[in-house]
Amino acid sequence: MTPPCPHCGGELKYRDSKKRIHRKEGGIIEWFIIRRLQCLGCGGFHTELPDCLVPYKHYDSEIITGVIDGIVTSDDEDSEDYPCEETMKRWILWYKENKERAEGYLRNTIYRLLDNRDDFLISGVSLLSTFKKIEVKPHWLGYIIRTIYNSGNYLVPVW
Ligand SMILES: [Zn+2]
Repeated sequence: MTPPCPHCGGELKYRDSKKRIHRKEGGIIEWFIIRRLQCLGCGGFHTELPDCLVPYKHYDSEIITGVIDGIVTSDDEDSEDYPCEETMKRWILWYKENKERAEGYLRNTIYRLLDNRDDFLISGVSLLSTFKKIEVKPHWLGYIIRTIYNSGNYLVPVW
């Protein structure tokens, strides 16, 4: 199920995908697979991940995660390095809009990993909250996004 074009509501068709690499301090390498879609209505291109959420394009995903977790706010003293309030609001909205979708994909992925056992899934525990607890604070979102995108699923852009 592909979401409609965020601009005109038209149908989006898969166009191509690209790998994005990020080298972190300490030689840690992270890969993201970003799929590009084209609108059959207006012809516009959209990456499945909102541009400003594509990690390390504009902001480090740790800052985005901090905003969603409410740790980073516009009142922060060193906010020159941080996004404007509008951008923060869009990130929070994006997360709100995608929470259930992300939860569904995580369940799906784990279901397959566990050889189609579903005892873990019917427990009613939110996998998102579990990931948030397991992963070191600023990394949970990046981890979830990687898991979802690298398994061929994607989240919905809000702009
Ligand atoms: Zn369109």
